[in-house]
Amino acid sequence: MNKTLTTIALLLWACLSWPVWAQQGWSVQHFALQLEPRFESRTMVGTLDMAFSVQDTKLHHVDLDAGELVVGAVTLGAQALVFEKSGTRLHITLPDGMVAGRRQHLRISYQGRASSGLRFDADSQQVATAFSTSHWMPCLDDPSVRARFTLTLALRPQLVSVGNGNPRPPVQRPGRLTEHVWRLDTPMPSYVYGFAAGPFEQVRQTAGKTTLEYFGPQPFTPQSLNQVFADSADMLAFYEKRSGIPYPLPAYRQVLLAGPAAQEMAGYSVMGVRYGQRVLANPQAIWLGAHEMAHQWWGNGLTNRSWRHFWLNEGIATFMTAAYLEHRFGVEAYADQIEAARTKYLALKKAGLDRSLVFPDWDKPTADDRSLVYDKGALVLHELRNVLGDDTFWKGLKHYTRKHWGQSVETADFRQAMEESTGRDLSQFFAQWVEIASTRN
Ligand SMILES: [Zn+2]
Repeated sequence: MNKTLTTIALLLWACLSWPVWAQQGWSVQHFALQLEPRFESRTMVGTLDMAFSVQDTKLHHVDLDAGELVVGAVTLGAQALVFEKSGTRLHITLPDGMVAGRRQHLRISYQGRASSGLRFDADSQQVATAFSTSHWMPCLDDPSVRARFTLTLALRPQLVSVGNGNPRPPVQRPGRLTEHVWRLDTPMPSYVYGFAAGPFEQVRQTAGKTTLEYFGPQPFTPQSLNQVFADSADMLAFYEKRSGIPYPLPAYRQVLLAGPAAQEMAGYSVMGVRYGQRVLANPQAIWLGAHEMAHQWWGNGLTNRSWRHFWLNEGIATFMTAAYLEHRFGVEAYADQIEAARTKYLALKKAGLDRSLVFPDWDKPTADDRSLVYDKGALVLHELRNVLGDDTFWKGLKHYTRKHWGQSVETADFRQAMEESTGRDLSQFFAQWVEIASTRN
């Protein structure tokens, strides 16, 4: 995410300030969503099939996050279930006698009005999700919950769609909307589910085993999109090398949207058209593209277990962006990024706003809290690089990434992996920089 975009920050705040409801006694394996976004009314109609199993046979209910969605029916097989919407939670009563470990399929029919999670832009004929997944499909906001996701979108003809994972060729049935299916077979947290659709220009490249695709509205052309995203293959190779993990999906897609946008999703990212314009004017202005791509590893591959450890997503991605700019444009580009982070952090510290990078909670984060997560987070990584030296630091970061790939992580995991790899006791460093606010030392 780009911390400079207020709108996105507000969306982020809206999502992250929701309470987290952990699964207790049950687990979800797969969400399959059929969704029809309706431009004229700026509403949506959806049917969600959730594959899940219970571990606790005495479980009486499951709770999902469902924003302001209006639920019409919930069924388990042929059986209608009792449900209740309370605030943003959907409380579903299960029948007696659930069998432990057996795969069950729950179907939820709902509708809703576009809120913070779904954006329609009538002028550009674009519709795209914006982070707050439970505002457009019932799910679990908890970032430690991973599940596979299949999305079937019903769209008017001529629209191009981008979603998570692998697409099937769109199917247009006479007199009906066009069906676009996207399938994500790698279990991922729900906050990186999404889609974008519009009358996009598109262009495709290959980078080793990965297909790179770029999308944007006119007046972008395949040629100018190639210019905007010219460094993508190099970025991908850089992050693969530093992480020790090949990019995990067959394709990575980057989409330019009307209006402000800056968000990583599983297998793609969205940015505003202004980002594209900036890069065309200045090919070095690629911070945002590099940042969002870094999240495919630090954020999506390894995900903060709770938002208290958000710096593991954003601080590391911000630091890795600086590291990529160093690789691409030289050490001064890196130094500029680190000094900018240091300046912002020192200003917060001077104002008495320094806090531990591990937040006691993330209920009502301020803009300053977010700055700490990004800027102090990146600065801490830089300081650790200084303390350990280049070779040792990068070896440690690679060990952390490989050890926890596909998992939820918290700060202790990062510290332990760095200590294992380097053989160093980092307790003093983490105490000073991470675990308590340095103003309190
Ligand atoms: Zn980010």
